[in-house]
Amino acid sequence: MDNDITVVGAGPAGLGFALLLANSGLRVALIDKQSRDQLAQPAFDGRDIALTHQSQRILQSLGVWARIEPADRPCIKTTRVQDGTSSYSLEFDAAGGDADSLGTIVSNHVIRQALFEQVLSLSNVELHADTLVSDIQTNDSRATVVLDDGRSLQSRLVVAADSRFSETRRMMGIAASMQDFGRVCIVCRVENEQPHGNIAFECFHYGRTLAVLPLSGDTSSIVITAPMDQRAEIMEMDEERFNRDLQQRFSNRLGQMRLISQRFAYPLVGVHARKFYATRFALVGDAAVGMHPVTAHGYNLGLSGAELLATEVMAAKSRAVDIGATALLRRYQAKHMRKTIPIYRGTNGIVRFFTDDRLPVKLARKAVLRLSNNLPPIKGVIQHLLTQPGGRARRLPHRF
Ligand SMILES: Cc1cc2nc3c(=O)[nH]c(=O)nc-3n(C[C@H](O)[C@H](O)[C@H](O)COP(=O)(O)OP(=O)(O)OC[C@H]3O[C@@H](n4cnc5c(N)ncnc54)[C@H](O)[C@@H]3O)c2cc1C
Repeated sequence: MDNDITVVGAGPAGLGFALLLANSGLRVALIDKQSRDQLAQPAFDGRDIALTHQSQRILQSLGVWARIEPADRPCIKTTRVQDGTSSYSLEFDAAGGDADSLGTIVSNHVIRQALFEQVLSLSNVELHADTLVSDIQTNDSRATVVLDDGRSLQSRLVVAADSRFSETRRMMGIAASMQDFGRVCIVCRVENEQPHGNIAFECFHYGRTLAVLPLSGDTSSIVITAPMDQRAEIMEMDEERFNRDLQQRFSNRLGQMRLISQRFAYPLVGVHARKFYATRFALVGDAAVGMHPVTAHGYNLGLSGAELLATEVMAAKSRAVDIGATALLRRYQAKHMRKTIPIYRGTNGIVRFFTDDRLPVKLARKAVLRLSNNLPPIKGVIQHLLTQPGGRARRLPHRF
């Protein structure tokens, strides 16, 4: 056997999973199609990731958090959710919960760089950069991953973390349900004239949604979601008009806003794999569940799933039993499905509810915001889900 585990994809989920096995004594091969330089110096991609307390705890335990400068991990103290043109907001406040912030925001490229640096410090991980997987064969005794340069790597388990459009998931015949929202998410950074006070805004305007997330100093991360046919207009709008338009849509709350980064566009497609495992094969990260970003759960779920799988694998290793056994993978699937299905369905439900501009739905939205604000049990469940302070999300009702 060349290694114990082969991980396909050195994105935030694959890197996190490899790090979770740091002291396991297991030999890990980590494959990515990007070059070593691209992995070491990931470019800014416009994504600023809201991390829950649970993710922060995992990144701290992996030694990754200490690699991120405090200025690169500003916190969210309050979140305000608004609907349409109304200034009424559903408000979640850190002071009302059991933690001193609702979460932290770290840029995706900063997370990737810190994870990669930490992985390079491990002696049990062997990196195969600039490499694509051309085939996978698994049987009762081993898994063989064939690389595009003709080499093949044998191990006892393959873990796929190769994005929501995972090629390896397809190679292993695992189906996935996909929801194409027909919308695009456009992200960028702005400088604002007035301080944001570490308040995050989620504004469900009619037709478009706008999130303004607090970054360090007087800067904010902007997340616009709009129907796909508005993509070119928003992406190509000249900077002055873009700034004016944004400021007006945000009702001038932070004064003048000035674009300080490139704009990036992501088509919105949610993906949930029907199964998270096959023979000697498991899915983690977006390859298992690719979320709509509105509830900011994608990487948080990816990291908690990676932790679940790593815990199962290490328990098997310490009992000297097969780390690729089907029973182990089934347990991982059961635990991760229990967490992801309600969040995935709930998020898609929220998207449908807040992007449906028929009059009765608009009225229902207003009622829901007011009700949630005034019903502490509902608000408490949502806040718990946002922060996940103890590391385990309480079960959500299947529909919000
Ligand atoms: C606009 C936006 C905002 C978001 N905001 C949040 C947020 O606030 N909070 C949150 O938790 N999440 C958020 N997310 C989700 C988060 O970015 C993803 O969940 C996370 O990046 C997924 O990591 P991953 O490692 O699973 O996949 P990816 O980041 O897609 O990485 C996959 C890796 O696999 C490699 N790869 C792909 N195919 C192959 C192959 N065939 N062979 C070898 N290597 C391969 C790629 O090169 C890449 O390195 C957001 C996403 C978007 C688009």
